[in-house]
Amino acid sequence: MSDATLPAWIAKAVILVGTVVMIAIRAPHGRRSRSVKVARSHKTPLETLLLVLAWVGFFVPLIWVVSPAFSFAEYPLRSGPLVAGLTCLAIGLWLFFRSHADLGTNWSVTLELRKEHRLITQGVYRTIRHPMYSALTLYSVGQALVIPNWVAGFSNVIAFAVLLALRVGAEERMMAEQFGDEYAAYSARTKRLVPGVW
Ligand code: SAH
Repeated sequence: MSDATLPAWIAKAVILVGTVVMIAIRAPHGRRSRSVKVARSHKTPLETLLLVLAWVGFFVPLIWVVSPAFSFAEYPLRSGPLVAGLTCLAIGLWLFFRSHADLGTNWSVTLELRKEHRLITQGVYRTIRHPMYSALTLYSVGQALVIPNWVAGFSNVIAFAVLLALRVGAEERMMAEQFGDEYAAYSARTKRLVPGVW
């Protein structure tokens, strides 16, 4: 069964649906968050560069869906990776939904603190400090498994790995500066991305 080759349109449909669900989850939260004023911005030129990279990682799979631009990097789609990828995408989207719901208007696309910013330690934030990044990691791994193309499949994983490597430390320093002992205690009892591991 896992040796059967499947048509690429299945993967294209999955990527389109996943993207629509992701946008539908983020749009209302993004709108609500942006209505709360930013009290302190920690947006550096590096942060701007990381955001551009994230956008590139996000759009490359969509370019693959609608154009033959990356046809040189195509390989056959098989059911094993497709099912594994669908599982990662589904769990990733669920966690993305939960983390947006728990973070509420404290969400920002970059490093900034909003007016009356609260430290969230409940819901999916109870055991991990960066559930939204865990969600996006799962989502990008899901894309890499589902998309039978070396360029489009890995664009998001690579972009997100760079973002994670260069942002998490700065974000934690910002939060520690703002919330002091409360954040130190929260960090001591939680892991960053994977419960009980890291
Ligand atoms: N790193 C978190 C949040 C991503 S959104 C996650 O992966 O779930 C980035 C913004 O969220 C940061 O600019 C910061 O202002 C805010 N933030 C991060 N952790 C937070 C927390 N525990 N409580 C409240 N705001 C938080």
